[in-house]
Amino acid sequence: MANTQKSSENHTTANRNAFDATKVETGVRLILEGIGEDPARPGIEGTPRRVAQMYEEICAGLHNEPRELLHVIPAETHDEMVIVKDIPLYSICEHHLLPFFGVAHIAYIPKDGRIVGLSKLARVADLMARKPQIQERLATEIADLLDEMLRPTGVMVVIEAEHMCIEMRGIKKPGAKAVTSALRGGFLKDQRTRAEAMSLILGHKG
Ligand SMILES: [Zn+2]
Repeated sequence: MANTQKSSENHTTANRNAFDATKVETGVRLILEGIGEDPARPGIEGTPRRVAQMYEEICAGLHNEPRELLHVIPAETHDEMVIVKDIPLYSICEHHLLPFFGVAHIAYIPKDGRIVGLSKLARVADLMARKPQIQERLATEIADLLDEMLRPTGVMVVIEAEHMCIEMRGIKKPGAKAVTSALRGGFLKDQRTRAEAMSLILGHKG
C-alpha cells in the first residue's frame, strides 16, 4: 500500500509491436554499412540474420508476461523472510544496447501464507531483464510485480551488475559494479529488517 508508483509507463506487454525479424535484419545491415563495413563480405553476410535471432531471444521480456510465471501458492502461515540470492541476470542497456549483467537478490516477507516457488522468482527476474532496460528500473519492476502478486509484508530487490557501456567505452572502468535496490513495505520502514536481509545476502561474500 506504500507503493502507489507503478512502473506501468509503457512497460506492459499489451499494445506492443510484435517482433519483426526482417526489420531487425534491415537495421543491422544499415549499421554495418554505416560503420564502413561491407555487409556482403562473406564473414558477416549472415550477421543480420544471426543478430535478429539473438535479439528475439534477449528481448523475450518484451513479449512474455511475467505475471504468468508467478503462481501464488497458499502455504501454511509461513511469514518468515524468504531470500533467493545470486540469480544470474543478463540484460541490455537501453541507452547503448550493450549488455549489462550480474546478479539479483530477492527477499520478501510473505503475508497470509502467500508464497511462490523459489525458482519462479529467478525466472521472473530473468524475463524482466530480457529487454532494453536500465538497472534501476529492473529492480523497481521486479519489486512492484512481487508486491502486486504476493501482497507481502515487504519486498527487497538488490541488483549488482557490470555494464559493458561503462567498461568498453566512455570512462572505461573495468570491473566497476553498479548496485541498485528497490524496497517495499517492511524493508522500507524497518531498518532492522533491511539490515537482516542485507547481511544474509552479502554474508557469503565476507
Ligand atoms: Zn549504457
